[in-house]
Amino acid sequence: MHNKRYRIIDTTALLMWHIPFDTDVINVTTDSVLKEIKKDELTKSIVDSYLEAKRIIVKKPKKEYIDRAYRLALETGDKIKMSDTDIEIVALALQLADEGSDVEVITDDYSIQNILQRMNINILSYFRKIKNIYNWVLVCEKCGKKYPNDYDKEYCEICGGRIIRKRKNL
Ligand SMILES: [Zn+2]
Repeated sequence: MHNKRYRIIDTTALLMWHIPFDTDVINVTTDSVLKEIKKDELTKSIVDSYLEAKRIIVKKPKKEYIDRAYRLALETGDKIKMSDTDIEIVALALQLADEGSDVEVITDDYSIQNILQRMNINILSYFRKIKNIYNWVLVCEKCGKKYPNDYDKEYCEICGGRIIRKRKNL
């Protein structure tokens, strides 16, 4: 008996209508990804037919994994670039890996890739794949004040400058 194999599919992959199908890998996505593609009617109808044929299934990550994904994103400094949907993708990958399944994730999103690579989860991408793993810090563009990674305002409280991400030297 071997482990189940899952392939997690994010929004960009669904919008490309280019989902690999093979019998030994289960394609899976999340509710928030489906919500994101709803606006695109043609994609929605294509994806609906995938769902109906069970070529893609929907899984909801458990809250503890959402929390873990969120914490990891704060640690790496990727949080500021990530939507709730991105966090859900990471959470689902962590959960399936923890359950002993083989997981790969199709995504072109750098932040998702940055976190998953650290966790040794396979990434497939269409156009963009990161070459290195980074940690980020938030700093004010003008005065250089550093902010914690969960700082949620766009502007510096000291000088009003824009908050940007800077690569942290490891
Ligand atoms: Zn400042």
